[in-house]
Amino acid sequence: DKVHAPVVILGTGLAGYGLAKEFRKHDAETPLILITSDDGRSYSKPMLSTGYTKDMSTDDLAQMDAGSMGRMLKASVWTMTKVGEIDTANQLIKVGDNETAVHYSKLVLALGADVIRPPIEGDGLDKVYSINDLLDFDDFRTAMKKNDAKKVCLIGGGLIGCEYTNDLINGGFATETVDPLGYCLPTLLPEPAGKAVQAALEEKGAKFHFGPLVTAVNNADSGVKVSLNNGETIDADLVVSAVGVRPRVDLAQASGINTNRGVVTNRLLETSAPNVYAMGDCAEVNGHVLVYVAPLMAQARALAKTLTGEPTEVSYPAMPVTIKVPACPVTVAPPAQGAEGEWSFEIDGNNVKGEFRNAAGDLLGFALTGDATKQKMALQKELPPIMP
Ligand code: FAD
Repeated sequence: DKVHAPVVILGTGLAGYGLAKEFRKHDAETPLILITSDDGRSYSKPMLSTGYTKDMSTDDLAQMDAGSMGRMLKASVWTMTKVGEIDTANQLIKVGDNETAVHYSKLVLALGADVIRPPIEGDGLDKVYSINDLLDFDDFRTAMKKNDAKKVCLIGGGLIGCEYTNDLINGGFATETVDPLGYCLPTLLPEPAGKAVQAALEEKGAKFHFGPLVTAVNNADSGVKVSLNNGETIDADLVVSAVGVRPRVDLAQASGINTNRGVVTNRLLETSAPNVYAMGDCAEVNGHVLVYVAPLMAQARALAKTLTGEPTEVSYPAMPVTIKVPACPVTVAPPAQGAEGEWSFEIDGNNVKGEFRNAAGDLLGFALTGDATKQKMALQKELPPIMP
């Protein structure tokens, strides 16, 4: 029956496993099942873009396999299992070929986010990689070796694109990075800070093409030819696409659960279906879609309490994001969408301190690069919480 059915978590990323760990702090007994479409190894996703810098292979990045995680969590971890349907009225999910049905007392969607695939033509698309999980990472590393790659073209100069650019440079590879906007990390950083990152990466040998879109990737005699809509072409061995991610909402949508940009939840992380919750990259919590680690940790702590009988709303403090571009470290706390105020800057070479303040002088956001990142703690204290 529903009441004695297990708690089921869909997804074994930082959100799913993070929640399971927090849950077991409050409840050692209730049966717990985690279901994942990947191999269930636990790993820290942010480390993927530091593989060359830290000289870590796929096996180095994998911290524990699914079996060990299951024993540690006193849970059953089902790997390589895709959930195709949720029957929210009868509180059951159908897995695999829809022949196995599992009842849940509570269900948590921790399904992550999919990479956005830009519309690109050509016959070389099998050389375009996106690296969004451990299996992708392994595929990419294997392809780099197999193709004896020396040069990589990156599509996207945002957080992920710049991190991989720096990581590939550190690995001794040549890079050319394409972004339709005007400078590095254009959606996160104000221009002087983004330009500082660009300059620091260029000093290390990175090449950037700002303004154009990639339109085609075609096979060439060796490697690929990447075509831009300004007529330029780039020769490379492989391509990495990093134009952003989109919360995985399809399963929720198909099951009649409310979705918007993400799976819609309130501050208790409840979705529109009874006893179904969402967290991590797939969730839109009280209007916030935040695809970072700090928010999902706050969610895991709150939801573990809620699931064990102490309803707890999630709250977010200020959560600056650190971007792993060692050529020019970056910490940014973007002002809220639509916040009124102005940027001011102190600039010393690639060391930029940007502060976003309103007319009353309150700090609403900041962007720090290079040595200015040392001021993070002091400025963070001044920031308002994202969701009090
Ligand atoms: P995921 O880790 O994607 O987990 C989703 C899980 O759902 C997987 O187990 C998957 O198999 C499973 N799944 C999906 N669909 C189904 C289905 N139908 N049935 C069953 N299972 C399914 N954030 C930071 O805060 N700081 C950083 O420095 C940082 N660096 C990053 C660097 C890179 C290269 C990337 C890609 C991201 C980075 N992030 C960073 C973001 C951060 O890693 C993510 O926010 C976080 O890992 C998301 O965790 P998640 O558990 O929500 O999703």
